[in-house]
Amino acid sequence: MVEDNPDNRLLLRAILGGRYEVAEYENGTAACEGLREQIPDLVLLDISLPDMDGLDVLRQIRADAALKTVPVIALTAHDMPSDRGKFTAAGFDDYLTKPILDESVLLEAVESCLGRRPDRA
Ligand SMILES: [Mg+2]
Repeated sequence: MVEDNPDNRLLLRAILGGRYEVAEYENGTAACEGLREQIPDLVLLDISLPDMDGLDVLRQIRADAALKTVPVIALTAHDMPSDRGKFTAAGFDDYLTKPILDESVLLEAVESCLGRRPDRA
């Protein structure tokens, strides 16, 4: 997960921690370094980060040969009807609106993305 808000990290860890091995990054710079060292099966990526925005992090992921096929789910507080299209057009595999009120929505998105490895090679 790439998320700067400690409360959101706590919540994501509580939901996912018992099921998955979760690495946490608090900003885009740390994420871009860490993801290259430890290639994940999936990235949950906050759009609003203190240093880079999530779209910049996604661009780096998609430009990296080792990371470009990794599914990325956008996490954003911007609950606008047009946003889903905007984020999927940008190259995200899915989109979740914060706060996460229903953990089954998160788990279904994660499982769906893990089961569907898009061919971006
Ligand atoms: Mg944020």
